[in-house]
Amino acid sequence: MKAVVFYGPGDMRIEEREIPQPSEQEVLIKMKACAICGTDVRIYSFGQANVKPPQIIGHEIAGVVSQVGSKIKGCREGDKITLVTAVGCGKCRYCLEGRVNLCHHIKPIGYYYSGGFAEYMIVPAEAIRQGSILKIPEGLSFNEASLAEPLSCCINGQEYLNIGLGDRVVIVGTGPIGCMHAELAKVSGATKIILADISAERLKLAKVVEADVYINSEKEDLVKRVLEETQGDGADVVITACPSPQVQAQSLSMTAIRGRICFFGGLPHGKSRIDFDSNIIHYREISVHGAFASHHSQYQKALDLFVSGRIKASKFITHQFPLKDLVKGIETIKEGKALKAVVVMN
Ligand SMILES: [Zn+2]
Ligand SMILES: [Zn+2]
Repeated sequence: MKAVVFYGPGDMRIEEREIPQPSEQEVLIKMKACAICGTDVRIYSFGQANVKPPQIIGHEIAGVVSQVGSKIKGCREGDKITLVTAVGCGKCRYCLEGRVNLCHHIKPIGYYYSGGFAEYMIVPAEAIRQGSILKIPEGLSFNEASLAEPLSCCINGQEYLNIGLGDRVVIVGTGPIGCMHAELAKVSGATKIILADISAERLKLAKVVEADVYINSEKEDLVKRVLEETQGDGADVVITACPSPQVQAQSLSMTAIRGRICFFGGLPHGKSRIDFDSNIIHYREISVHGAFASHHSQYQKALDLFVSGRIKASKFITHQFPLKDLVKGIETIKEGKALKAVVVMN
Protein backbone atom coordinates (compact mmCIF):
# COMPACT_ATOMS: atom_id res chain seq x y z
CA MET A 1 0.00 0.00 0.00
CA LYS A 2 0.97 3.63 -0.34
CA ALA A 3 1.42 5.69 2.82
CA VAL A 4 2.66 9.19 3.47
CA VAL A 5 5.03 9.09 6.41
CA PHE A 6 6.01 12.03 8.62
CA TYR A 7 9.75 11.94 9.39
CA GLY A 8 10.08 15.37 10.98
CA PRO A 9 9.24 19.02 10.31
CA GLY A 10 9.08 19.61 6.56
CA ASP A 11 9.86 15.95 5.84
CA MET A 12 6.92 13.88 4.60
CA ARG A 13 7.71 10.88 2.36
CA ILE A 14 5.49 8.69 0.26
CA GLU A 15 6.39 5.05 0.87
CA GLU A 16 5.36 1.62 -0.29
CA ARG A 17 4.47 -0.51 2.75
CA GLU A 18 2.94 -3.91 3.47
CA ILE A 19 -0.79 -3.75 4.17
CA PRO A 20 -0.96 -4.16 7.97
CA GLN A 21 -2.63 -7.34 9.24
CA PRO A 22 -5.22 -6.92 11.99
CA SER A 23 -4.90 -9.06 15.12
CA GLU A 24 -8.00 -10.87 16.42
CA GLN A 25 -8.97 -7.71 18.35
CA GLU A 26 -8.35 -5.21 15.53
CA VAL A 27 -9.99 -4.01 12.34
CA LEU A 28 -8.38 -3.06 9.04
CA ILE A 29 -9.85 -0.09 7.17
CA LYS A 30 -9.44 0.76 3.51
CA MET A 31 -9.22 4.53 3.57
CA LYS A 32 -11.52 6.52 1.29
CA ALA A 33 -11.07 10.08 2.51
CA CYS A 34 -8.96 11.78 5.14
CA ALA A 35 -9.38 15.53 5.55
CA ILE A 36 -6.41 17.71 6.39
CA CYS A 37 -6.69 19.37 9.80
CA GLY A 38 -4.96 22.53 11.00
CA THR A 39 -3.13 20.24 13.40
CA ASP A 40 -1.72 18.22 10.49
CA VAL A 41 -0.40 21.47 9.03
CA ARG A 42 1.19 22.28 12.39
CA ILE A 43 2.73 18.81 12.78
CA TYR A 44 4.17 18.97 9.26
CA SER A 45 5.61 22.44 9.93
CA PHE A 46 6.90 22.11 13.50
CA GLY A 47 6.41 18.56 14.72
CA GLN A 48 4.48 17.80 17.90
CA ALA A 49 5.46 16.08 21.16
CA ASN A 50 2.87 13.28 20.89
CA VAL A 51 3.84 12.39 17.31
CA LYS A 52 6.98 10.25 17.22
CA PRO A 53 8.42 9.98 13.70
CA PRO A 54 8.29 8.03 11.55
CA GLN A 55 4.51 8.17 11.82
CA ILE A 56 1.49 8.24 9.52
CA ILE A 57 -0.69 11.13 10.68
CA GLY A 58 -4.27 12.08 9.67
CA HIS A 59 -7.29 11.77 11.96
CA GLU A 60 -10.31 13.04 9.96
CA ILE A 61 -11.05 9.61 8.65
CA ALA A 62 -13.67 7.94 6.46
CA GLY A 63 -13.25 4.47 5.02
CA VAL A 64 -14.56 0.96 4.55
CA VAL A 65 -13.94 -1.98 6.86
CA SER A 66 -11.76 -4.34 4.86
CA GLN A 67 -10.85 -7.06 7.38
CA VAL A 68 -12.19 -7.86 10.83
CA GLY A 69 -10.32 -9.63 13.63
CA SER A 70 -11.90 -12.94 14.75
CA LYS A 71 -12.93 -11.59 18.16
CA ILE A 72 -14.61 -8.41 16.86
CA LYS A 73 -18.38 -8.11 17.07
CA GLY A 74 -20.68 -5.41 15.74
CA CYS A 75 -18.60 -4.50 12.72
CA ARG A 76 -18.47 -6.20 9.32
CA GLU A 77 -16.45 -6.15 6.16
CA GLY A 78 -17.87 -3.48 3.86
CA ASP A 79 -19.18 -1.22 6.64
CA LYS A 80 -18.65 2.46 5.86
CA ILE A 81 -17.17 4.05 8.95
CA THR A 82 -15.54 7.02 10.58
CA LEU A 83 -13.43 6.97 13.74
CA VAL A 84 -13.36 8.91 17.00
CA THR A 85 -9.83 10.30 17.25
CA ALA A 86 -9.40 10.29 21.03
CA VAL A 87 -8.57 6.94 22.59
CA GLY A 88 -8.63 7.11 26.38
CA CYS A 89 -7.41 4.67 29.05
CA GLY A 90 -10.99 3.49 29.54
CA LYS A 91 -10.63 3.51 33.35
CA CYS A 92 -10.27 7.08 34.66
CA ARG A 93 -13.20 9.25 35.77
CA TYR A 94 -13.21 11.16 32.47
CA CYS A 95 -13.23 8.02 30.36
CA LEU A 96 -16.00 6.57 32.54
CA GLU A 97 -18.04 9.72 31.86
CA GLY A 98 -17.48 9.24 28.15
CA ARG A 99 -15.14 12.22 27.95
CA VAL A 100 -12.24 10.29 26.43
CA ASN A 101 -10.85 13.55 25.01
CA LEU A 102 -9.98 14.63 28.56
CA CYS A 103 -8.24 11.41 29.64
CA HIS A 104 -4.77 12.01 31.12
CA HIS A 105 -3.48 9.05 29.13
CA ILE A 106 -5.07 9.93 25.81
CA LYS A 107 -3.57 8.15 22.79
CA PRO A 108 -5.15 9.76 19.75
CA ILE A 109 -5.39 8.12 16.34
CA GLY A 110 -3.25 9.96 13.81
CA TYR A 111 -0.84 11.08 16.54
CA TYR A 112 0.03 8.22 18.91
CA TYR A 113 -1.50 5.54 16.67
CA SER A 114 -0.99 5.50 12.89
CA GLY A 115 -3.59 7.55 11.07
CA GLY A 116 -5.38 7.98 7.81
CA PHE A 117 -2.90 9.31 5.28
CA ALA A 118 -2.38 5.81 3.92
CA GLU A 119 -4.39 3.41 1.78
CA TYR A 120 -5.05 1.17 4.79
CA MET A 121 -4.93 1.56 8.55
CA ILE A 122 -5.49 -0.56 11.63
CA VAL A 123 -8.07 0.48 14.21
CA PRO A 124 -6.39 -0.28 17.55
CA ALA A 125 -8.09 -2.76 19.88
CA GLU A 126 -8.39 -0.14 22.63
CA ALA A 127 -10.33 2.17 20.30
CA ILE A 128 -12.69 -0.62 19.26
CA ARG A 129 -13.38 -1.51 22.91
CA GLN A 130 -14.39 2.12 23.50
CA GLY A 131 -16.79 2.14 20.57
CA SER A 132 -14.71 4.46 18.43
CA ILE A 133 -15.95 2.99 15.15
CA LEU A 134 -19.03 4.90 14.01
CA LYS A 135 -21.06 3.93 10.96
CA ILE A 136 -21.45 6.58 8.29
CA PRO A 137 -25.18 7.20 7.83
CA GLU A 138 -26.78 6.47 4.46
CA GLY A 139 -26.64 9.50 2.20
CA LEU A 140 -23.31 10.89 3.39
CA SER A 141 -20.28 10.66 1.15
CA PHE A 142 -16.87 9.68 2.50
CA ASN A 143 -15.64 13.24 1.93
CA GLU A 144 -18.51 14.65 3.95
CA ALA A 145 -18.15 12.08 6.72
CA SER A 146 -14.45 12.94 7.09
CA LEU A 147 -15.55 16.34 8.41
CA ALA A 148 -17.39 14.83 11.37
CA GLU A 149 -14.22 15.20 13.46
CA PRO A 150 -13.77 18.99 13.13
CA LEU A 151 -17.52 19.57 13.55
CA SER A 152 -17.57 17.35 16.65
CA CYS A 153 -14.81 19.49 18.18
CA CYS A 154 -16.89 22.63 17.54
CA ILE A 155 -19.90 20.91 19.14
CA ASN A 156 -17.73 20.18 22.19
CA GLY A 157 -16.84 23.87 22.43
CA GLN A 158 -20.40 25.07 21.97
CA GLU A 159 -21.90 22.68 24.52
CA TYR A 160 -20.43 24.97 27.17
CA LEU A 161 -21.79 28.12 25.54
CA ASN A 162 -25.52 27.37 25.47
CA ILE A 163 -26.15 29.45 22.39
CA GLY A 164 -29.87 30.17 22.05
CA LEU A 165 -32.49 32.24 20.28
CA GLY A 166 -31.46 35.84 19.81
CA ASP A 167 -27.82 35.43 20.73
CA ARG A 168 -25.26 37.56 18.99
CA VAL A 169 -22.14 35.56 18.33
CA VAL A 170 -18.66 36.72 17.36
CA ILE A 171 -16.18 34.24 15.93
CA VAL A 172 -12.60 35.36 15.47
CA GLY A 173 -10.71 33.21 12.97
CA THR A 174 -12.53 32.17 9.81
CA GLY A 175 -10.75 28.96 8.89
CA PRO A 176 -12.88 25.82 8.59
CA ILE A 177 -13.30 25.67 12.37
CA GLY A 178 -14.54 29.27 12.60
CA CYS A 179 -16.93 28.60 9.72
CA MET A 180 -18.27 25.43 11.34
CA HIS A 181 -18.81 27.35 14.58
CA ALA A 182 -20.85 29.88 12.59
CA GLU A 183 -23.07 27.17 11.12
CA LEU A 184 -23.59 25.54 14.51
CA ALA A 185 -24.45 28.85 16.15
CA LYS A 186 -27.07 29.44 13.45
CA VAL A 187 -28.58 26.00 14.05
CA SER A 188 -28.78 26.85 17.77
CA GLY A 189 -30.77 30.02 17.06
CA ALA A 190 -28.21 32.82 17.04
CA THR A 191 -29.63 35.84 15.22
CA LYS A 192 -26.45 37.69 14.43
CA ILE A 193 -23.19 36.05 13.44
CA ILE A 194 -20.12 38.24 13.20
CA LEU A 195 -16.98 36.75 11.66
CA ALA A 196 -13.57 38.38 11.96
CA ASP A 197 -10.15 37.53 10.59
CA ILE A 198 -6.91 39.28 9.73
CA SER A 199 -6.74 37.58 6.33
CA ALA A 200 -8.80 39.01 3.48
CA GLU A 201 -8.40 35.70 1.64
CA ARG A 202 -9.81 33.65 4.53
CA LEU A 203 -12.68 36.11 4.96
CA LYS A 204 -13.52 35.66 1.30
CA LEU A 205 -13.61 31.86 1.63
CA ALA A 206 -15.79 32.23 4.73
CA LYS A 207 -18.56 33.86 2.63
CA VAL A 208 -19.95 30.32 2.16
CA VAL A 209 -21.46 30.44 5.65
CA GLU A 210 -23.32 33.68 4.94
CA ALA A 211 -22.57 35.39 8.23
CA ASP A 212 -24.28 38.71 8.96
CA VAL A 213 -21.11 40.74 9.38
CA TYR A 214 -17.54 40.21 8.20
CA ILE A 215 -14.77 42.22 9.84
CA ASN A 216 -11.20 42.46 8.61
CA SER A 217 -9.55 42.97 11.99
CA GLU A 218 -6.23 43.82 10.35
CA LYS A 219 -7.86 46.97 8.99
CA GLU A 220 -10.59 47.71 11.51
CA ASP A 221 -10.73 47.99 15.30
CA LEU A 222 -12.41 44.68 16.15
CA VAL A 223 -13.73 45.62 19.61
CA LYS A 224 -15.10 48.96 18.44
CA ARG A 225 -16.85 47.37 15.48
CA VAL A 226 -18.39 44.56 17.56
CA LEU A 227 -19.73 47.11 20.05
CA GLU A 228 -21.23 49.10 17.16
CA GLU A 229 -22.85 45.96 15.75
CA THR A 230 -24.38 45.11 19.14
CA GLN A 231 -25.73 48.53 20.20
CA GLY A 232 -22.85 48.92 22.62
CA ASP A 233 -23.68 45.77 24.59
CA GLY A 234 -21.05 43.43 23.20
CA ALA A 235 -21.69 39.92 21.95
CA ASP A 236 -23.44 37.25 24.00
CA VAL A 237 -20.90 34.72 22.83
CA VAL A 238 -17.34 35.15 21.58
CA ILE A 239 -15.38 32.22 20.17
CA THR A 240 -11.68 32.60 19.49
CA ALA A 241 -10.82 30.16 16.71
CA CYS A 242 -7.29 31.40 16.15
CA PRO A 243 -3.95 31.00 17.96
CA SER A 244 -3.73 34.62 19.11
CA PRO A 245 -3.14 35.74 22.72
CA GLN A 246 -4.18 39.29 21.77
CA VAL A 247 -7.55 38.08 20.51
CA GLN A 248 -8.15 36.13 23.74
CA ALA A 249 -7.43 39.26 25.80
CA GLN A 250 -9.59 41.40 23.48
CA SER A 251 -12.49 38.98 23.68
CA LEU A 252 -13.34 40.20 27.20
CA SER A 253 -13.85 43.75 25.95
CA MET A 254 -16.39 42.72 23.32
CA THR A 255 -18.48 40.35 25.45
CA ALA A 256 -21.84 41.39 26.85
CA ILE A 257 -22.86 41.18 30.48
CA ARG A 258 -23.39 37.47 31.33
CA GLY A 259 -21.71 36.61 28.07
CA ARG A 260 -19.80 33.42 27.37
CA ILE A 261 -16.38 33.10 25.81
CA CYS A 262 -14.78 30.00 24.33
CA PHE A 263 -11.02 29.89 23.94
CA PHE A 264 -11.33 27.30 21.21
CA GLY A 265 -7.97 27.63 19.54
CA GLY A 266 -4.93 26.81 21.66
CA LEU A 267 -1.99 29.21 21.78
CA PRO A 268 1.54 28.36 20.64
CA HIS A 269 3.82 27.04 23.38
CA GLY A 270 5.69 29.84 25.07
CA LYS A 271 3.04 32.34 23.95
CA SER A 272 0.15 31.13 26.05
CA ARG A 273 0.13 33.82 28.74
CA ILE A 274 -2.36 36.65 28.33
CA ASP A 275 -2.83 39.93 30.12
CA PHE A 276 -6.39 40.91 30.93
CA ASP A 277 -8.47 42.88 33.43
CA SER A 278 -9.99 40.17 35.59
CA ASN A 279 -12.54 42.63 36.97
CA ILE A 280 -14.30 42.57 33.60
CA ILE A 281 -15.11 38.92 34.28
CA HIS A 282 -16.13 39.72 37.85
CA TYR A 283 -18.43 42.69 37.35
CA ARG A 284 -19.89 41.59 34.04
CA GLU A 285 -20.44 37.97 35.14
CA ILE A 286 -18.67 36.62 32.10
CA SER A 287 -17.85 32.92 31.75
CA VAL A 288 -14.72 31.77 29.97
CA HIS A 289 -14.56 28.18 28.74
CA GLY A 290 -11.91 25.95 27.25
CA ALA A 291 -12.47 23.24 24.67
CA PHE A 292 -10.25 20.41 23.58
CA ALA A 293 -11.02 17.74 20.99
CA SER A 294 -14.30 15.81 21.28
CA HIS A 295 -15.93 12.53 22.26
CA HIS A 296 -18.25 9.91 20.82
CA SER A 297 -21.68 11.48 21.30
CA GLN A 298 -20.43 14.70 19.72
CA TYR A 299 -19.31 12.77 16.63
CA GLN A 300 -22.74 11.22 16.42
CA LYS A 301 -24.34 14.68 16.61
CA ALA A 302 -21.99 15.92 13.88
CA LEU A 303 -22.96 13.03 11.59
CA ASP A 304 -26.65 13.63 12.35
CA LEU A 305 -26.33 17.34 11.56
CA PHE A 306 -24.68 16.54 8.23
CA VAL A 307 -27.13 13.86 7.20
CA SER A 308 -30.13 16.02 8.16
CA GLY A 309 -28.81 18.77 5.90
CA ARG A 310 -28.94 21.29 8.79
CA ILE A 311 -25.24 21.74 8.14
CA LYS A 312 -23.90 20.96 4.68
CA ALA A 313 -20.51 19.32 4.95
CA SER A 314 -19.75 19.70 1.25
CA LYS A 315 -19.80 23.50 1.40
CA PHE A 316 -16.58 23.51 3.44
CA ILE A 317 -14.62 21.37 0.98
CA THR A 318 -12.84 23.61 -1.50
CA HIS A 319 -10.00 21.26 -2.48
CA GLN A 320 -9.33 17.55 -3.00
CA PHE A 321 -5.93 15.94 -3.39
CA PRO A 322 -4.71 12.43 -4.15
CA LEU A 323 -2.65 10.83 -1.36
CA LYS A 324 0.64 11.49 -3.15
CA ASP A 325 -0.11 15.22 -3.08
CA LEU A 326 -0.71 15.48 0.68
CA VAL A 327 2.11 18.01 1.08
CA LYS A 328 0.62 20.09 -1.73
CA GLY A 329 -2.66 20.06 0.20
CA ILE A 330 -0.93 21.13 3.40
CA GLU A 331 0.83 23.97 1.56
CA THR A 332 -2.45 25.11 0.01
CA ILE A 333 -3.99 25.38 3.48
CA LYS A 334 -0.91 27.16 4.82
CA GLU A 335 -1.20 29.74 2.07
CA GLY A 336 -4.79 30.35 3.14
CA LYS A 337 -6.15 29.29 -0.25
CA ALA A 338 -8.30 26.37 0.91
CA LEU A 339 -11.12 26.28 3.40
CA LYS A 340 -11.08 22.51 3.86
CA ALA A 341 -8.91 20.17 1.80
CA VAL A 342 -9.55 16.43 1.71
CA VAL A 343 -7.16 13.70 0.67
CA VAL A 344 -9.19 11.30 -1.45
CA MET A 345 -8.06 7.72 -2.11
CA ASN A 346 -9.15 5.84 -5.20
ZN1 LIG B 1 -8.96 17.65 13.11
ZN1 LIG C 1 -8.93 7.73 30.84
